[in-house]
Amino acid sequence: MSAPATEELAALAAALEGRPPAEILAAAAARFPGRVALACSFGPEDCLLVDVIGRAGLLVDLFTLDTGYLFPETYALWRELEARYRVRIDAAPGGALRAPEEGPRPWEVDADACCDARKVQPLRATLATLGAWVTGIRRDQTPERAGARVVEWDGRFGLVKVNPLAGWTSEQVWTALRQGGVPTNPLHQQGYPSIGCAPCTSPVALGEDPRAGRWRGSEKKECGLHWPQVKPGA
Ligand code: SF4
Repeated sequence: MSAPATEELAALAAALEGRPPAEILAAAAARFPGRVALACSFGPEDCLLVDVIGRAGLLVDLFTLDTGYLFPETYALWRELEARYRVRIDAAPGGALRAPEEGPRPWEVDADACCDARKVQPLRATLATLGAWVTGIRRDQTPERAGARVVEWDGRFGLVKVNPLAGWTSEQVWTALRQGGVPTNPLHQQGYPSIGCAPCTSPVALGEDPRAGRWRGSEKKECGLHWPQVKPGA
């Protein structure tokens, strides 16, 4: 199937802006039957999207990037979500590379290369099989995400990106999670607003940026999964 035209994506984004996540996800599933999947990192937004997909029985596949270095609490949440919603959250192949037992750890030597091998490449391989991927990104998370649209072209990976929660605030997400009794990572209540791999995530203090605990002490703030968007064919 060829890439959707810029005009089609713009029209879809305009029509779906502000609509409920279930409606946005249903539209994506209808437009890309059998070729749309949520990349679930088990953050609050992704847990909410798993809830929406599971409860509505939407035909959206689920996968995660298992680097082999997630927190035990994250692995437990993975199992809990699968059991609660009777869904399968697949691990993208190739991510859980074991680090050598001896010597400096890969994330200490070159965190970008470590993220590339354990996250970006497995993501790229999985996205190559899809027409659209769903993410939980919100515009107010980082300056890089401020321009995210509900439906947009992902020029880096060459497919459509669907962001049903683009316009939501963190408070809205947490209200919906509480109202729905959705399972979330218990580490959020222990000072971890943003949770990635255990070696690269630390708790944040009151008033700190929610992502300050990711790769603390380095300039790195993103895994490299969500880069600025470009138009189809660019
Ligand atoms: Fe490696 Fe850290 Fe990136 Fe995980 S977050 S893939 S451990 S650099």
